Amino acid sequence: MALIQQKPVTPAPQDQNQQRIEQLLRTQRTYFADGHTLPIAFRKEQLRRLQQVLKQHEQELFDALYADFRKPALEAFGTEIGFIELELKLALKSIDDWASPRRVPETLINFPARSYVYPQPYGVALIISPWNYPLNLLFTPLIGAMAAGNCAILKPSEIAPNTAAIVTRIISQNFDERYLAVVEGGVETAQHLLAQRFDYIFFTGSTQVGRIVMKAAAEHLTPVTLELGGKSPAIVTVDADLELAARRITWGKFLNAGQTCVAPDYVLVQEEVKEDFIQLIGRCITDFYGTNPAESPDFARIINDAHFARLSRMLTPEHIRAGGQTDAATRYMAPTLLEHITWEHPAMQEEIFGPILPILSFDGLDDMIKMVNRHEKPLALYFFSGNRAHQQRILREVSFGGGCINDTLSHLANPNLPFGGVGSSGLGSYHGMASFDVFSHQKSVLHRGTWLDLPFRYPPYGNKLKFLRKLFGWL
Ligand code: NAD
Repeated sequence: MALIQQKPVTPAPQDQNQQRIEQLLRTQRTYFADGHTLPIAFRKEQLRRLQQVLKQHEQELFDALYADFRKPALEAFGTEIGFIELELKLALKSIDDWASPRRVPETLINFPARSYVYPQPYGVALIISPWNYPLNLLFTPLIGAMAAGNCAILKPSEIAPNTAAIVTRIISQNFDERYLAVVEGGVETAQHLLAQRFDYIFFTGSTQVGRIVMKAAAEHLTPVTLELGGKSPAIVTVDADLELAARRITWGKFLNAGQTCVAPDYVLVQEEVKEDFIQLIGRCITDFYGTNPAESPDFARIINDAHFARLSRMLTPEHIRAGGQTDAATRYMAPTLLEHITWEHPAMQEEIFGPILPILSFDGLDDMIKMVNRHEKPLALYFFSGNRAHQQRILREVSFGGGCINDTLSHLANPNLPFGGVGSSGLGSYHGMASFDVFSHQKSVLHRGTWLDLPFRYPPYGNKLKFLRKLFGWL
């Protein structure tokens, strides 16, 4: 009988990606288990290497960001490359301190003893990032993961392909893949990654995908951080410095063409000053980007055709107060103000994530607070008011991820402020020391003295209950 010759099977590209993911995870697990990432000296060396290679490739990174969405160099530096550099510097300066055991107060019941919290790396972390700040949102969590002593697999967004390609090259050429590796790909790749058992998952992206990530993590009881989105209001009251508010809101909104998770999504302005405020915002747009923002080198483009089409549906002509011009070929959308719209308008049904700013009004503080609190808890809130009592009321009565009084976005520039959402805008926070903590299990350990061993906890209990009650009374 003739033998049937079997052809060698070549795996499809997606299968190859899956095999690679599984292989990477296995090797990273072993690398971690063998303790390579534990010494602080190793962590510092790797962070320094990252610092060096980001410097070396700075121009290519600028070019990739420009190719992906015409991100102006100043924005690319201020919000991505320079931002990462500051986080790196802080981690290198503080890692000895962050990684030290933290002593906590003792209780009498354990006398004699000392108690400490030991930060311990989780193991192999998965970091999934979105496209809008494709370097910042990949490297900032990575710095925390590295400082805390983890291995990591990074999944950049497929929607910023030029940036993803250079990130892959930088990491693969400069780091041992048993320690750090990049897996490029879209939804299918992300889902295959999520099907694996990681020790930590750090996800930045939409609330909708955040739910998918959390479900997948639940399968393996993997802890997660979810940095999500939402509709972040900028609120302007009668006693605000209107000119300053207009300038700061215009900047925060139209930076990166509005494709910023913490951009003011919409404005709530007190009715009495609404008209003045709209005029001022209009003036700021012209001051920043000229009479034809399409010609401004400082105004970015929409990332892709799908987002361009999504945003175009929000441009209902009867509501456009300023802007509204578009060019599908270059994915240009002018900074646009919408007026006289309700919460049912398409722009109020989802996070805008583009250069469209709806302006809604309110009469009194009570109404405004109710209005905000009836919606999902925002990732950010910006309150413009000169009235301290009103500022305090907002801080006390409204729940939101983080934000500013009399500014927009700037809370992200302070690494001492943990950054994250609440409710549907996210779970957990990072930046600075918070990034280190996110990627560390806080291992609590009590060191018990051996020179004293009071017998009241040991059976037979007899009438020791009386003594125990007394002891608890003294605590
Ligand atoms: P997204 O959720 O579509 O994608 C984020 C990542 O998830 C990408 O890497 C993508 O490949 C992956 N992904 C997409 N669909 C998936 C699926 N079904 N299963 C598994 N993985 C999947 O988000 P985006 O469009 O890239 O980014 C925009 C969103 O991210 C906005 O909602 C914005 O507010 C949010 N965001 C939040 C922050 C923050 O720090 N909180 C920062 C930037 C962006």
